[in-house]
Amino acid sequence: MTYKTHKTVGLFLAMAFIIGNNISNHLINSNISSNVVAINLTNPTVTNSIPGGLIFFLEVFYYLYLAYLGSLYPDIDHIGSHLGHRRKVLSYYIAMKFGHRTITHSLLGMLIGTLPVFLISQTTWIFFNFGKIAWFYFTIGYFSHLFTDTMNPKGIPWLYPKKTMYSLNHFQMGTSSEEWMNVGTGGFLLASSFLFPTPISYALFVYLLILVIK
Ligand SMILES: [Zn+2]
Repeated sequence: MTYKTHKTVGLFLAMAFIIGNNISNHLINSNISSNVVAINLTNPTVTNSIPGGLIFFLEVFYYLYLAYLGSLYPDIDHIGSHLGHRRKVLSYYIAMKFGHRTITHSLLGMLIGTLPVFLISQTTWIFFNFGKIAWFYFTIGYFSHLFTDTMNPKGIPWLYPKKTMYSLNHFQMGTSSEEWMNVGTGGFLLASSFLFPTPISYALFVYLLILVIK
């Protein structure tokens, strides 16, 4: 799958989780105030952000950025990939030692790749209270990459070091179905801005849309 598709699916999944979490928290907190909604997975009864406020904006932006990074991370095993190009030494090492679509495209790779992010996000909460669950969004991005590559006829070795490739044999890379999937996802991201109708959230979603289309 292309860089654009991975990025789009990762952002889509993360956004779906953020919205889902917001709606459930909104229901829990609806007796407090109709326009105060929490976005706190660890303690859903705590309201810590007002949608459209600056903290909320930073929080959503941070989660989406991590999902974006996670969605690109597995392709670090390919020197020519978007991330591999920017992390040449690590990329070269993994590509030489393991090859493309091996360890980073497996559950083992997901565990190894997300562990540092998990450990870091356990400390960042000291600086900002939403940091603690940030690893979750990186993992969503990572998982979305593996899921999308499974759609490809070549598949991925989910159970590496076992060499079996698992594939749903659905999408060919660069086909119109892949393009349509991207368009649909972009539409979803734009539509979701109506859930948070403030200037700052519109700015965020326009940015997201540009990120997806680019
Ligand atoms: Zn891949």
